[in-house]
Amino acid sequence: MAEIELRDITKIYEIPGRQRKMPPLKVCALENICFGIEKGEIVALMGASGSGKSTLLRIAAGLEEQTSGQVFLYDRPADELAPGQRELSFVFQEYALYPQKTAFENMAFPLVNMGVKKEKIRELVMEAARMLQIEYLLNRRPKQMSWGQRQRVALGRAICRKPKILLLDEPFSGADEALRQELISILLKLHKDLGMTCLYVTHSQQEAEALGERILYLNEGRLQ
Ligand code: ADP
Ligand code: MG
Repeated sequence: MAEIELRDITKIYEIPGRQRKMPPLKVCALENICFGIEKGEIVALMGASGSGKSTLLRIAAGLEEQTSGQVFLYDRPADELAPGQRELSFVFQEYALYPQKTAFENMAFPLVNMGVKKEKIRELVMEAARMLQIEYLLNRRPKQMSWGQRQRVALGRAICRKPKILLLDEPFSGADEALRQELISILLKLHKDLGMTCLYVTHSQQEAEALGERILYLNEGRLQ
């Protein structure tokens, strides 16, 4: 059973003309994209900057609407699933942590929003922190952490609700080589331990080969 499936997805962005009466400029970001990812698979989606990787991931996550085609999650049309039924987390290129919140509060935030009980939140956050070995960071705010520590907290925030699907958009592209390798091995371990289905976007061939059981190449909005 495919956990994520994209059927014939096309995305056209319309940029309004600069002057009145000028027709909108149309940018075809994705053209007839079809693929499926099996449960528990980790797949790398690779392509140059501007090839449509982020657009594809955002459409899969329901953060952006496609122009045509359909997304299926767990063999059901994604638009029929309420946000709580999607069981999907997203890690962005920039960690996007709340600066005023501690690491603990940042990781707890999605769970608070879901109405999870306090005790359970504590348990889930502590468990994720243990897996990522960031217990010592839990009381710190983002500005008291290094880039790599923040990105680890962002990963923790994504996994503490135990999503079935994890989507990552170039999450380690700001890291130097040594840190990147460290973060990749952490992610591989998380994937193995939690059995999540992962779709990992990168522009780096090396990263794609290190991570993906399978690599999808995107070129100017088309899957190669
Ligand atoms: P990537 O993540 O591979 O760098 P993107 O998905 O961000 O690529 O962008 C794919 C194409 O769609 C690019 O040509 C980009 O300029 C265009 N695009 C992306 N987002 C928007 C938007 N919100 N409005 C208009 N065009 C966009
Ligand atoms: Mg992008």
